[in-house]
Amino acid sequence: MSHEHRDNGPRRVGQVKEVTSLANPIIKDIKALSDKKTREQSGTFMAEGLKLVIDAIELGWTIRTLVYAKAAKGKPLVEQMAAKTVASGGLVLEVSEKVLSSITRRDNPQMVVGVFENRWKPLRDIRPAKGETWIALDRVRDPGNLGTIIRTADAAGASGVILVGETTDPFSLETVRATMGSVFAMPVSRATPEEFIAWKKQAGVSLVATHLAGSVDYRTIDYKTKPVVILMGNEQSGLPEQLAREADALARIPQQGLADSLNLAVASAVMMFEARRHLLSLTEAK
Ligand code: SAM
Repeated sequence: MSHEHRDNGPRRVGQVKEVTSLANPIIKDIKALSDKKTREQSGTFMAEGLKLVIDAIELGWTIRTLVYAKAAKGKPLVEQMAAKTVASGGLVLEVSEKVLSSITRRDNPQMVVGVFENRWKPLRDIRPAKGETWIALDRVRDPGNLGTIIRTADAAGASGVILVGETTDPFSLETVRATMGSVFAMPVSRATPEEFIAWKKQAGVSLVATHLAGSVDYRTIDYKTKPVVILMGNEQSGLPEQLAREADALARIPQQGLADSLNLAVASAVMMFEARRHLLSLTEAK
C-alpha cells in the first residue's frame, strides 16, 4: 500500500516526502531499528549526523532512507546526500524535529539520520597478511566499549574487528555513535569460539591474548614477523580457558595502583598501538 494515501501519510515534494506524524508507518519502522531483532531481520541500522551519513555514502554503504529535519533543508551537503540517496533508489524524508527526536530518542537530535544496510565480513574471507593487525573481542557486552574499540582500531591502522561469542551489536545506535563513523571504515566479523579457533589454526597469524594472569610483558612480544590477532577478554569474566589456551602469547600490561584491571577499551587501545608501533609514524598521518 502506498503510504502517501494515508491520513497521516507523507506528502511528496519532488522526490522528498514530508512527514510530521509520529504515527507514520515509515517512521514507526525506522524507530523499530532501536530493537536488535528488528535490525537483524531487516539487515539495516541507523546512523546519526551528517558527517556519518557522508562518510558512509562515500565509502559505498547502501543507504535505504535519509531523514532530515526541515531546518536542514537547502543545505548543500544535505541536498547532495539526498540526491545520492534518490539516485541509489533510497527514500528521502523531510521531518519535523519532534519526529527526529523520537527516532533518535534524543531531546536535541542531529539534523540528519541515515538508515543503511548492514555488513558483516565473513570470517572465512579474512586472510591477514604481514603487517596487518586484527582485534578479536570475547563476548564484549558494553556498546560504548565496542564503539570505542572500533574507533581506536581504525585510528591505529588495524584491519578489522572479530566478535567472538554472544556480543553486543556493532550496529546499535549507541555503538555506532561511539565509533564516530569508524564502523563504516572497519570490517566487522562474528564467530562462535569454535569457529574462531578453527580459523586461527589455519590463518597463519600470531594470536596474542591478553590476560590478567598473563606471563608475558606486552612490550616484549614480536608483532612483526606474522600478522597479529589481539584477543581481549570479556569485561566481567576475562578470557575463558578455551580461548586462552589457543594463544601464542598470553600478554599482560603491567599495572600499579589500586585498580585490578584496565577498562576493556583502554587495554585494547594500549595493545593495538603497541602492536602497530613499528608501523605508525607522524609523517604518515592523514
Ligand atoms: N575481572 C576480569 C578478569 O578477571 O579478567 C577483568 C576483565 S578486564 C576489565 C577486560 C579485559 O581487558 C581482560 O579480559 C583483558 O583482555 C584486558 N585487560 C585489562 N587489563 C589488562 C592488563 N593489565 N593486562 C592485560 N589485559 C588486560
